[in-house]
Amino acid sequence: MADCRLAGLAYLGGVIPIVHHPDYVAAPDPRARAQSSKNGLIRDMLNDSGVPIVWHVPDPMPPHWLEEVHDPAYVAQVLSAAVPAEKERRIGFPVTEQVARRAQAVPGGTWLAACLALRHGFAANSAGGSHHALADTGAGYCVFNDLAVSAVRLVEEGAVERLLVVDVDVHQGDGTAALTAGRAGIATYSIHAAKNFPARKARSTLDVALADGVGDDEYLDTLRRTLVPMLDDVRPQLILYQAGVDPFEGDQLGRLALTDEGLARRERLVAELALARGVPLASTVGGGYGSDKEAIARRHVSAILTLGACWA
Ligand SMILES: [Zn+2]
Repeated sequence: MADCRLAGLAYLGGVIPIVHHPDYVAAPDPRARAQSSKNGLIRDMLNDSGVPIVWHVPDPMPPHWLEEVHDPAYVAQVLSAAVPAEKERRIGFPVTEQVARRAQAVPGGTWLAACLALRHGFAANSAGGSHHALADTGAGYCVFNDLAVSAVRLVEEGAVERLLVVDVDVHQGDGTAALTAGRAGIATYSIHAAKNFPARKARSTLDVALADGVGDDEYLDTLRRTLVPMLDDVRPQLILYQAGVDPFEGDQLGRLALTDEGLARRERLVAELALARGVPLASTVGGGYGSDKEAIARRHVSAILTLGACWA
């Protein structure tokens, strides 16, 4: 599918469209394994869930679209697996050839999920949400910013005139905000823990910074109170959703205190607000950290299936 507007897919009632690429999982370096093994667990748990799913395999994002938001020199460094050590330190793992293939596949997946959402109402990428990646470097386990790349491509290709990135990861969507600032048709919303990474925040269209330890009710009240007016102001034709589960109370890198039920209520609230306005939503995975990889993958799967059930 080279162009969203030419999508010729049949309607798939009750079946959740989910995007996955084998390259999401392949990454032999142990320092990158935490990210890639999560994507393998997510795929397997979705397959075992019994929920009807249609799997879609994305094409890698063409380099010229990566270069719409990233410095061409950085794109070349990643795609040739020749990223300077200083940037690899900021990313958090070395960019091997397999990591480079993954980095190119994931934005292709987020863009495809957006196209599928425009057709079906909802679709999920089983990876992505790499919201810390900046123009000339990756950061915070993010290599390319799939949200910013996809947002720019969708608007440039005319798939939508206005879209909103809704980022509920516990960390601010600094890269997405910086890379899309001043771009016509793209607005960004980030609700995050004020004291968390990144230390130096970017400016989203709307930032909602929360105090440490905020729990379910306060979080959900704040989300509704701030997101509703933004949706009504921006009137997006598509939401790109960064569904990080690291606001969870037990997350290793989070500072908030949401329960599993609170996360499920969050997905249902976002779905309810989107559905009430007829806005399609494409979700990406985002952050989730800790030693129990299965528990984290289960949380990401729950986010995808909870959202999917709202549209089904
Ligand atoms: Zn995060």
